[in-house]
Amino acid sequence: MTGKSTAIATQDYDVIIIGSGMGGLVTATQLAAKGAKVLVLEKYLIPGGSAGYFEREGYHFDVGASMIFGFGKEGTTNLLTRALDAVNVSLETIPDPVQIHYHLPNNLELKVHKNYDKFIDELTAKFPHEKKGIRRFYDECWKVFNCLNAMELLSLEEPRYLMRVFFQHPFACLGLVKYLPQNVGDIARRYISDPELLNFIDMECYCWSVVPADKTPMINAGMVFSDRHYGGINYPKGGVGTIAEKLVEGLEKLGGEIQYKARVTNILMETGKAVGVRLANGKEYRAKRIVSNATRWDTFEKLLPKNEMPTKEEKWQQRYEKSPSFLSLHLGVKSDILPIGTECHHILLEQWEAMEDEQGTIFVSIPTLLDPSLAPEDHHIIHTFTPSYMKEWEGLSSQAYHHKKEAAASHLVERLEKIFPGLIEGLDYQEVGTPRTHRRFLGRDQGTYGPIPRRKLPGLLGMPFNRTVIPGLYCVGDSTFPGQGLNAVAFSGFACSHRIAVDLGL
Ligand SMILES: Cc1cc2nc3c(=O)[nH]c(=O)nc-3n(C[C@H](O)[C@H](O)[C@H](O)COP(=O)(O)OP(=O)(O)OC[C@H]3O[C@@H](n4cnc5c(N)ncnc54)[C@H](O)[C@@H]3O)c2cc1C
Repeated sequence: MTGKSTAIATQDYDVIIIGSGMGGLVTATQLAAKGAKVLVLEKYLIPGGSAGYFEREGYHFDVGASMIFGFGKEGTTNLLTRALDAVNVSLETIPDPVQIHYHLPNNLELKVHKNYDKFIDELTAKFPHEKKGIRRFYDECWKVFNCLNAMELLSLEEPRYLMRVFFQHPFACLGLVKYLPQNVGDIARRYISDPELLNFIDMECYCWSVVPADKTPMINAGMVFSDRHYGGINYPKGGVGTIAEKLVEGLEKLGGEIQYKARVTNILMETGKAVGVRLANGKEYRAKRIVSNATRWDTFEKLLPKNEMPTKEEKWQQRYEKSPSFLSLHLGVKSDILPIGTECHHILLEQWEAMEDEQGTIFVSIPTLLDPSLAPEDHHIIHTFTPSYMKEWEGLSSQAYHHKKEAAASHLVERLEKIFPGLIEGLDYQEVGTPRTHRRFLGRDQGTYGPIPRRKLPGLLGMPFNRTVIPGLYCVGDSTFPGQGLNAVAFSGFACSHRIAVDLGL
């Protein structure tokens, strides 16, 4: 295995974390708060990964995420609030009254209001014959959420914690055990039969799980479909990148360290155990525990030798595949093209059959409607993205790649004219990203958004927790339980740090 080391380890740590995505940073801050000596190694210039930012010509763009769950004030599922609190930092958030404005086939226009009853009434007005089924389906999602929101969310790999929560919340735990192997599609069909409404439920899942309801675990749906009406969607003032910056501030105040431009090339092994890492510049660091915030594909195929992949990982890869990446367009536009009352987040799809296609569904976020300081005066940011596979963008000459990017961007803008008439004339700035961009800047294999089931699986049962079969090596982030999304990877960070703290006796 990798690990023939020539350079001498420069320093010893309790825990080394490869990557400063939200999963890595929550793990790091939680461990530092427990007194561990932590080092985070980040290959890029700033922290945050997919929740980072970049600046161009007065615009402050979010790299990816901008519909943020987890900033609620109550319950236990507000994991971003809790992660910041744990290291004594905070940030201002701006509540969003509508999660998504959907623009769907057959002129199905619908808003998911923060107010639950208002959303249910709006949906029922479109499908009056399904009034009972709509209420029963979404109410069942609340049952999942109420179970989750009753207990402290930590490592399901820690038996003493499991016993404790079971004795504290027996009914909530039994509820979760019931839902763990279930998917949304089966439950939706139990209450709803209108094919178009079932298409809508597919879209409700697809827009964060990138798979339809039949492949979307009920546990994740319970979180998303309820928390948007409970803790709500809240945008961090100053942009999504401030979450990572604040976590780093908290980490450093506690004595934790972070290095940028520190690309890990190998996980060092000794007698079958992970003991350290080697950087691209040849430096080596050792620690009692190593955490990879890179995807599982990057961890087990690049940081460790692919030909020695543990059987358990091979089996995981047979169950889960890489979701597509995105074609992203970061636009600066004149503010007068957006009518008063425009919502922050939109989904556009013209034909149901195209939902999962290459460049089928279009996602839009306009964060400047909530925080105008992110753009020059009288201008807005429109961040729009649509699923796209790496195979579409490989093997092109640089000129062909450039032309393809420009053509794809124009096509996307033309489609968006349907919901934002005048967009083309109002363009002030444009930057196009492809799966190649996501791979390059985020270090994610094929630029993937994360793992998706290859076929219908029993809910969340197949998603791996944080420990790996390699002693001393843990994974955190969206390719571990419970999957993609900032609040979900924060959960993974809480769980990972909890398991490591127990293993280290902290
Ligand atoms: C376009 C887009 C839109 C999204 N929208 C939303 C949204 O609205 N709401 C939401 O909740 N979620 C959204 N998501 C998903 C969410 O952003 C991710 O699920 C989450 O940020 C993933 O966090 P992570 O910690 O698992 O990994 P990442 O964010 O991928 O972070 C991993 C980090 O590790 C670093 N790294 C990797 N390899 C190495 C190495 N070898 N050495 C050193 N460093 C390394 C990377 O540079 C990166 O900083 C979106 C994602 C994208 C791409």
